[in-house]
Amino acid sequence: MSRTDDLRAMSEEHSAHNYHPLPIVIAQADGAWVTDVDGNRYLDMLAAYSAVNFGHCNPRLTEAAKRQLDRVTLVSRAFDHDQFGPFVSELAELCGKDMVLPMNSGAEAVETALKTARKWGYEVKGVPAGQANIITFEGNFHGRTTTIVSFSTDPDAKDSFGPYTPGFRTVPYGDVEALKAAMDGSTVGVLVEPIQGEAGVNVPPSGFLKAVRELCTANGTLMIADEIQSGLGRTGTTFACDHEGVVPDVYILGKALGGGIMPVSAVIADRDVLGVFKPGQHGSTFGGNPLACAIAREVIAMLRTDEFQARSRELGAHMHERLGRLPSDQVREVRGRGLWAGIELHGKARPVSERLMELGVLAKETHETTIRLAPPLVISREDLDWALDQLEIALKG
Ligand SMILES: *Cc1c(COP(=O)(O)O)cnc(C)c1O
Repeated sequence: MSRTDDLRAMSEEHSAHNYHPLPIVIAQADGAWVTDVDGNRYLDMLAAYSAVNFGHCNPRLTEAAKRQLDRVTLVSRAFDHDQFGPFVSELAELCGKDMVLPMNSGAEAVETALKTARKWGYEVKGVPAGQANIITFEGNFHGRTTTIVSFSTDPDAKDSFGPYTPGFRTVPYGDVEALKAAMDGSTVGVLVEPIQGEAGVNVPPSGFLKAVRELCTANGTLMIADEIQSGLGRTGTTFACDHEGVVPDVYILGKALGGGIMPVSAVIADRDVLGVFKPGQHGSTFGGNPLACAIAREVIAMLRTDEFQARSRELGAHMHERLGRLPSDQVREVRGRGLWAGIELHGKARPVSERLMELGVLAKETHETTIRLAPPLVISREDLDWALDQLEIALKG
């Protein structure tokens, strides 16, 4: 038995089967490449669902982490520390907002945004107690907590986890009229992914985000953009909302904010919104810890130069140009923006991701028929072209 088989058997036996990973066991990684326990190298075309936007073990980020590791790593929010003030002020500036509420996982930040919208609704907008509603979209993915799966439209994510949290209305993604019809005086927030990642890299019709912005403004409702997967350079701009020149009231960030090292997430908004929290009303033991803040500050500094956004724009245009030439008898549709693509196949995607793995490329199917590509933004053009060559081979079957 190979080391891979051995270790895979251990995982199979003792971990809950809430994932269906490809049969590879990674031991090491560098940039866009990973090496498995048997010494085989693979090009990573998933980048941990965009959490590794800056590449595996990015030296700037591992240096920032190592520097902080020997200083102080956790004090809890009972005390302030010297990375906290700079982190919240630098992240607020990156987002063009006043305030930051740091958490850890993406789902926690989404929960935080939902609580923010409700509290803002009652205390600022004047919605009658217990009446607040929040609008979400079909095909959404915002995490796995009980409240978040309450408004999922994916039976796998939702079924058998009830009773569900009330107070959510769901309308078709991209449907402005349906959104308008669902809004009323008690609507405190519209929670939207600027591009739906998990659903298969669904790009909404052009003008949709602008229309959401205008409806929220007209209705006095918070536009809440979940940029956990779409943000921080992935689509060729700092935020996917930037493509339509839209500024939401609330940004939710996660994934790449932690540089692929630590779970770091945050809700970012102006004072009239995040100012609703008083001591004791929300929190997290690890949220905003020194190690997380030190790494995230380096991420923010890297985003200021436009280097990674530019790579995503340029390499993304090249990637989409090549994907657009895939034969239509193999590929139904290609969606995406920047170095991010959902390739909709006529048949099942799993065998294609398995063949890709045998060819040395790691990508993952989402749902039954979509291959998602989201390589680290540091990928070289040569490596990207090689991966796309392998994709062409894998699609031939
Ligand atoms: C991944 C993701 C989340 C959840 O983040 P976790 O860190 O896995 O909890 C939420 N929203 C979007 C859009 C995501 O892609």
